[in-house]
Amino acid sequence: MLNQTPWMIADELAPGSKHRMELTFPDAVLDRVAIPATVIRGQTDGPRIAVISGVHGGEYPGPAAAVRFAREIDPAGLSGSLVIVPVVNQTAFWQRTAFVTPDDGINLNRVFPGDLNGTFSEVLARRLFDALVEPADILIDLHSGDIFESLTPFSGYFKMSDKSLQERSAMVAHAFMLPIVNAYPEPFPGSLTSAAARAGVASAIVEVGGNGLLPSEDEAMVFDGLINALRAVNSLNEPARTVPQTIYEPASSADAPAAGLWRPAVGLNQQVEAGERLGTLTDLYGDEIADIVAPEAGEVVFYMTCLPVHTGETLVALGRPV
Ligand SMILES: [Zn+2]
Repeated sequence: MLNQTPWMIADELAPGSKHRMELTFPDAVLDRVAIPATVIRGQTDGPRIAVISGVHGGEYPGPAAAVRFAREIDPAGLSGSLVIVPVVNQTAFWQRTAFVTPDDGINLNRVFPGDLNGTFSEVLARRLFDALVEPADILIDLHSGDIFESLTPFSGYFKMSDKSLQERSAMVAHAFMLPIVNAYPEPFPGSLTSAAARAGVASAIVEVGGNGLLPSEDEAMVFDGLINALRAVNSLNEPARTVPQTIYEPASSADAPAAGLWRPAVGLNQQVEAGERLGTLTDLYGDEIADIVAPEAGEVVFYMTCLPVHTGETLVALGRPV
C-alpha cells in the first residue's frame, strides 16, 4: 500500500474506469485495518478529489452518500480522478462508538496530520493523510452531528493567507448547497480539514444530520452536494447549481461548567437573546447545578441531545450571520 497509493493506482487506470481496493498499512498497530476504497479515473484530466467520511463512527449520512456516490459516478463523464473512502475509521464505525476511536479512546479528528510513533488513531491519521489527502488537490470530509448531537446542516472551510486556495475551498463548501456556510477564521487544531488546508489542499467539511439517524433526505443532501461539488470544480461538464446561502461565523457557545444531567430547552434554528435560558444541568438527585444561559444573542446551530454531559463540553453552539 505504501508502494501503491490510491492516487498512483488512479494514474495507472485506463481513462474512464473504476477500481475497488482495500487500504492496508505496514504498521503493527494497524495490522487488522482494511479500508474499502473506490478509485475512479475520469475520461480526461482534471483535479484529484478525495472524498472521505466516517472519521467519526456514529455519523451516517456521509458514509451512506459516499457509497452511493462511488457506485453511481460515471467515469466516462468525469474529468480528473476521485478516491472515495466511505468509512476511514473502521473500528469506530463497526463498534458504533461516538466521538472517539475504541482502540485508544482518541478523537481521530483531533490528531491530524498524525504521528507514525503514536497510538492507533495517530498512526491511522498519518497513514490516511499521506496516502489520501496530501497528494490530492481537493478534500471533501463528510461528517454529521454524532450520536448525541443535533445540528443545522452546514459546510465549512478555513480562511487562510493563500487566497486562491481559500477561494477553491470556499467554492467546494458553497457547492454543497446547505443553508449555512461557515468561514472559520482560525485553523482547528488536529482536524482533517484544517490539516489538509495547511498542506495546500483545498478542503471543505460537510456536516449533515446527527443523532445516529439516517433519513433519506440527509443522505440525498450529501449526495447532491457531492455531485454539485464536482460541477463546481469542472470535474463534470455541466454548470454548478447555486442556492441562497448565509455565511455564518461561529458565535459563542455555552459549555458545561460541571458534569451532570443536561436538559436542553431550545431547538435548532431558534433565535436566543443574551442571557436567555438554553437548558438546565442537574445532578443525579435532580438538584440544579446550573442554569445554562446564552452568553450572547445568536441562533442555535448545534446542541447536545444526551442526558449525561462532561465538564467543558459544548452544550449549545450559537451562530451568527456575517
Ligand atoms: Zn464528525
